[in-house]
Amino acid sequence: MNDSVGHFETLAVTYGERGQRPAEGVEDVAVPVHLASTYAVPDIDPDASLETLDPDAGEFFYSRLSNPTRNALEHRLAALCGGDHALAFASGTAAIVTAISAAVEPGDHVVAFEDLYGGTKSMLTRFFEERLGVTTSFVDARDTDEVAAAMREETALVWMESPTNPLLRLCDMEAIAAIADEYDATFGVDNTFVGPYFQRPLELGADVVVHSTTKYLNGHSDSIGGALATNDDVYAEEVTFLQRVGMGNMLAPFDAYLTLRGLKTLPLRMDKHASNAQAVAEFLEADSRVSAVHYPGLESHPQHELATRQMSGYGGVLSVELDTDLDGVARFVAALDHFPLAVSLGGVESLVEHPATMTHSPLTQADRDFLGITDGLLRISVGVEHEDDLLSDLARGLDAI
Ligand SMILES: *Cc1c(COP(=O)(O)O)cnc(C)c1O
Repeated sequence: MNDSVGHFETLAVTYGERGQRPAEGVEDVAVPVHLASTYAVPDIDPDASLETLDPDAGEFFYSRLSNPTRNALEHRLAALCGGDHALAFASGTAAIVTAISAAVEPGDHVVAFEDLYGGTKSMLTRFFEERLGVTTSFVDARDTDEVAAAMREETALVWMESPTNPLLRLCDMEAIAAIADEYDATFGVDNTFVGPYFQRPLELGADVVVHSTTKYLNGHSDSIGGALATNDDVYAEEVTFLQRVGMGNMLAPFDAYLTLRGLKTLPLRMDKHASNAQAVAEFLEADSRVSAVHYPGLESHPQHELATRQMSGYGGVLSVELDTDLDGVARFVAALDHFPLAVSLGGVESLVEHPATMTHSPLTQADRDFLGITDGLLRISVGVEHEDDLLSDLARGLDAI
C-alpha cells in the first residue's frame, strides 16, 4: 500500500485522495464522503471472492469491509506512518484492542510501560487478564533493563508509549525492539502523544504503531478515531480479519473525511504546537511558583538526549507541577482564558487538564503517588494560538494562585 513518493508535507496534503472518483469523468480534488453501506456489483460471478476485491480498482462490496473514503484515509495513514498496511478504526481504543488481540492468545504474557494511557491499562487488566488469561507485567520502561528482566518465554507482546501521559516519560524504542525480537514478541507502540510527523516507531523497530486520530492526526477536536499501521503482512491479515469480521470496528465515512482533511495540515500544526509548547515550557520553568515542568524539549528533562535521538520534534503536550495545593490549582485554572479545562489533547486549541481529579481519578491515591501524579500537577495541550497570548494567560494564572 505504501508506494508513496514525496516528503511528509506533500504526502499529508494529497496522498491517497487522487483517483477516488465519485463518477466517471468527475475528478474531485478532495475525496467525497461515501456514505453507501453497500455497492451494486456488475453481475453474478462464480469466481468472485471477497478476498480478491481490489478497492484501489474501485471494487467495493459492503462498507464494513471497505469504503472509498476510508480507503483513501488508510492509504494516507500508511504513507505517513511508514507502513505497508494501515487501517482506520472507530477510536484509538478500537485500534489498540485489535492490535493487542492480533498478537496474543490465552496463556500469553505482555510487558508494558507502567505509565500507559489509563484506558489501555484497564483494557490489559480487566479485559485481557481477567477475561482472556493474558497477563501483563507493568514496568518502568525508562530503564530498558527492566523491560528485559520482565520478558518470559511466553511473552508475546511488548506494548509501549513514548512520551507517556501525563509525565512525558520516554522509552528507548530501538533498544526495546531488539529485546522483543529476541523473544519473537510483537512490539507495539501507541504513538498518539506525538504523532507520525515527529516520531515514526516503525522506523525504530516497532512491528505495529497505533494512534488515536482523535488527537493530533485529526487535530480539530471534532472526531473520535484510531489508526493502526504495520509492515508485517501476516499480522496485517489478522488485524484486518479482526477489524472487519471479528469485531466490526471501523471508522465511519464522515470521520474518515474529517481526518483526511485534518491530516493536510498535520505538519503545519505540529511545528506550531511544538514551538508554542517549547515557549510555554521555558516560561513556566523560569517561574518560582512552579516546582517542575515535564517536557522532552527542555534540557532539564532527564531523557532529553533520547528525545533528541528518536523524535524530530518534541510535540505539543507538557505537564507542570505548581507549588501549591488543590485550591491554588483551582484558582490557576479558573483565571485562564485560553486554556479550557478539558481532557483530550492534540487539537488546534489549547487545553488544560488536572490528572488527579480527571484522567487519573479512577486510580487509587497510592497508585497516583507511585506514578508521581500529585494534586499540583496539570497537563497542558498547547494549541496553535499566538504564543504571546498563551504566555500572558499563564502569567495571569500564576498570579491568581
Ligand atoms: C486518547 C488516547 C487513547 C484513546 O483514544 P480514543 O480515540 O479516545 O479511543 C489511547 N492512547 C493515548 C495515548 C491517548 O491519548
